[in-house]
Amino acid sequence: MSPTPPTLQRITVLSGGMGGARFLQGLLHGLAGGQVPGGSEATEVTVVANTADDIWVHGLKVCPDLDTVMYTLGDGIDPGRGWGRREETWSVKTELAAYGVEPTWFGLGDRDVATHLVRTQMLAAGYPLSDVTTALCRRWLTPLGARLRLLPMTDDRVETHVAIADPDAPSGRRVVHFQEYWIRLRAEVPAETVVVVGLDTSTPAPGVLDAIAQADLVVLPPSNPVVSVGTILGVPGVRDAVAATDARVVGLSPIVGDGPVRGMARQMLESIGVEVSAGAVGRHYGARGPGSTGVLDAWLIDERDAAQLPALEAAGLRSRAVPLMMTDHDATARMAAAAVEAAFAGTAS
Ligand code: GDP
Ligand code: CA
Repeated sequence: MSPTPPTLQRITVLSGGMGGARFLQGLLHGLAGGQVPGGSEATEVTVVANTADDIWVHGLKVCPDLDTVMYTLGDGIDPGRGWGRREETWSVKTELAAYGVEPTWFGLGDRDVATHLVRTQMLAAGYPLSDVTTALCRRWLTPLGARLRLLPMTDDRVETHVAIADPDAPSGRRVVHFQEYWIRLRAEVPAETVVVVGLDTSTPAPGVLDAIAQADLVVLPPSNPVVSVGTILGVPGVRDAVAATDARVVGLSPIVGDGPVRGMARQMLESIGVEVSAGAVGRHYGARGPGSTGVLDAWLIDERDAAQLPALEAAGLRSRAVPLMMTDHDATARMAAAAVEAAFAGTAS
């Protein structure tokens, strides 16, 4: 039997968009319902969200992952699409297309535009993205209580770009913004390289390093390991903070069976030469320890991938196989509970 985890006062989650947001929904549900060992409604949850997907469109600053987390937790998300606002209309997009202005492929909904207008105006007035995010969250997250905070990974401009083959280009390749790769090209062409412009010179947003250092538990949810969690860990100082924290660090695999549950984790993992399997992603994150650049104390894989446990243990990574499909809030809360148990197994409580 696992030891009882200590009282969880603070949990910090390094999140992308859809996978991270769904996990957070289940985590909050589990905390409120007493399903998460050591956790309760009083547990403070800090979300550090990826901002490398951000894009300027028609003069507006759009932050897809911040907004997906904010709308999902604030119950404003379109549940079918998993991004953007519910009961959305598309007049602005249609009108822009009638002018023939590019990009026409970006999904800019009318309700969503209001968020981007507020954000863009505040940025133009000189507020950093972290302050803007706090302001936007007053509408969406305040009703959930002060125990929930959403922070961008950085206030600096960081953008994921993808190099793809293009026989018409003089160099034989072309670089597109991550959003163009994902939405317009539907990730159907191989990603030759992924370059996160501005990452190396970025600094963590205020509160990010403290949230990692002062947490009892840091969670890498089932988000994209390359373009969501990978970019957050790539902000200088963040990986070191995760390596050094007194918190336990646990991750959940976004790869179940032979592929991602949804999204383009396959293309992204292939572009960095990591095999598309729950075991390989766990080893890519690596086990924490002296002299290691790894970030995990424990790793959860889906029960159907249990055959990969011995190789993970051999790599020094304490791993467990449990159901990892976020089919509803209860199932996701059970994943959060399993993550806590795995994180604190073998530690004195
Ligand atoms: P994005 O920014 O919207 O792409 O979202 P994230 O990076 O946060 O999450 C994307 C990842 O979530 C993908 O790699 C999916 O495989 C993963 N994912 C989505 N649903 C599930 C699920 O039910 N279970 C697991 N284990 N992973 C999931
Ligand atoms: Ca994303």
